[in-house]
Amino acid sequence: MAAEEAREAAMKEFDGQYLLIVDGSIPTKDGGVYSTIAGRTNLDMLQEAAKGAAAIVAIGSCAAFGGIPHANPNPTGAVAVSDIIKDKPIINVPGCPPIPVVITGVLTHYLTFGTIPELDDKGRPLSFYGDSIHDRCYRGRSTTRASSPSVSTMKAPANGWCLFELGCKGPTTHNACATVKWNQGVSFPIESGHGCLGCSEPDFWDAGSFYTALSMPADPVKYTAAAAVAGAAIGVAVSYANRSKKAAAKTAHQPATLADLEKKP
Ligand code: SF4
Repeated sequence: MAAEEAREAAMKEFDGQYLLIVDGSIPTKDGGVYSTIAGRTNLDMLQEAAKGAAAIVAIGSCAAFGGIPHANPNPTGAVAVSDIIKDKPIINVPGCPPIPVVITGVLTHYLTFGTIPELDDKGRPLSFYGDSIHDRCYRGRSTTRASSPSVSTMKAPANGWCLFELGCKGPTTHNACATVKWNQGVSFPIESGHGCLGCSEPDFWDAGSFYTALSMPADPVKYTAAAAVAGAAIGVAVSYANRSKKAAAKTAHQPATLADLEKKP
């Protein structure tokens, strides 16, 4: 009750001036009943609080893009702040979880300059999300890629091998993990030996296996099963088509080749 009174008092005193910070996605199904605070739906509270805000900061991948609650089949109808609020500037600070230094950096920018930082096409501040993880990854200097989970476990972390073949989504993920890092600069997931999951990109949870390399088809089992149930002649045709699909997928989704990695400074 005290927290709600403080929020309402702040909204009244600083009407039109305050920065609204939202954490979490917003359930919309059945009137938003799947998430409530003090008896009110989050949907209702967001719409009310947004009216008097100068701008909104959507903290975390849930608030920015819907996150895991938004993942298929999304039983609560969870959506991002930007799916509901259309008439206010929104700064997305995704990450699952978001990096604390990035959060404070964005808030400090607004408090210092009174302006919204320059954003990319997904509403993320370019100063933190302008480069991909891969652009800044120290493993990009490695000329050796780990090629199987056992190799990764045994050698890749110690040797600093690139984790691309083990499913690292660093080439298609934009965030500051490789520069700011975590725990006051101690480390980040790739430095600890695990590929990037792509958590600061929209719909990362539905984007296929975390352990499938970007150059491979998302579901190789599906291709194999389709060929098995078809007749011999059809099977040959399907197999040929699948090889073409795989080749196309490799071309379309492989943003970096080993040669590219070796060129990295
Ligand atoms: S693909 Fe390799 S170099 Fe790129 S981010 Fe992943 S581990 Fe780093």
